[in-house]
Amino acid sequence: MHAHPIGVHVGAGLTDDGALDAGGPLARAAEMDADGVQVFLADPQGWKAPKPRPDADDLRASGLAVVVHAPYVLNVATTNNRIRIPSRKLLGKHAEAAAAVGARGLVVHGGHVLTADDPAVGVDNWRKTFARQADDGGFPVPVLIENTAGGGNAMARDLDALARLWDGVGEFGAGFVLDTCHAWAAGWDLTTVVADVRAITGRIDLVHLNNSRDPAGSSRDRHAPLAAGEIPTELLVEVARTAGCPVVLETPGDAADHAAEIALLRAAL
Ligand SMILES: [Zn+2]
Repeated sequence: MHAHPIGVHVGAGLTDDGALDAGGPLARAAEMDADGVQVFLADPQGWKAPKPRPDADDLRASGLAVVVHAPYVLNVATTNNRIRIPSRKLLGKHAEAAAAVGARGLVVHGGHVLTADDPAVGVDNWRKTFARQADDGGFPVPVLIENTAGGGNAMARDLDALARLWDGVGEFGAGFVLDTCHAWAAGWDLTTVVADVRAITGRIDLVHLNNSRDPAGSSRDRHAPLAAGEIPTELLVEVARTAGCPVVLETPGDAADHAAEIALLRAAL
C-alpha cells in the first residue's frame, strides 16, 4: 500500500441481477492499478437497502482501500420526517453493509434543511443521528461527512456551517471527506483548505480529488478530469499531498483515463 492510497469511484459494479459486472470493482481496480475503490452498495438515487454482495469476502481480503458512498437521496439533516427518518435508517443499513465489505468508511453528504428552516435544527438532527447510534454501540464503520457544492441552508457547504455542524457531531467521532470540486464551487481557498478544514474538524479522512468544469464560487457540481478543468492541477496535487490521507477520484473518463490520472498523481506525490 502506498503512503497516499489512490482509489477510483467505480459505482456498484453489479448487473441488474446482482452479479458482478465484468468482474466488478476488484477487476476495475486491477485494470487501473488503483490502490482503492469507492463503491455504491445500492441504487444511489433510491431508497432500497443494500443486499449482500457476491464479492464481499474478496473486497474484504483485497488489501485495497475500500470506501462506500451512501445514496445521494439521504438527508439526515432535514426537518421533513418522511425524508429524515428513512435516511437515518438507511444510513445505519449502509454502515452495516459497508462493514461487510471491509470498508474504511461510509461517505455521506452533509445534507440540508429547507430555506425557511434554522440550520441549527439540521445540526441537531445530525447530532441525534450519531447520539442514537452511539446508544446502540455506534456505527460499525466511520461515517464520513462530505462537503457539498451548492444549495441553500446546506450543512457542509460553507466553512462557518461546517463549524456549526462539527459542534454537534465532532464528539461522536464523525469523519470528514473533502471534495475539491465542491470546495471550489463553494468558493473555498484551495491553497489553505486543508489547514482551514482541520482547524474546524481536526481531521480529513478522505479527499475526493476532482477538478471542476466551472469557475470558483459557481455553486455548480460538475466534475472534470484532474488535468482538464478550472482548478490548476498542481493545486489539486498539493491538496492531496497536504491532506496526507486516501484519495478517491470521481473524475469522468474510462479505465485508461483513470489509470493515467493515478499514474500522474502517484508520480507527483
Ligand atoms: Zn465527492
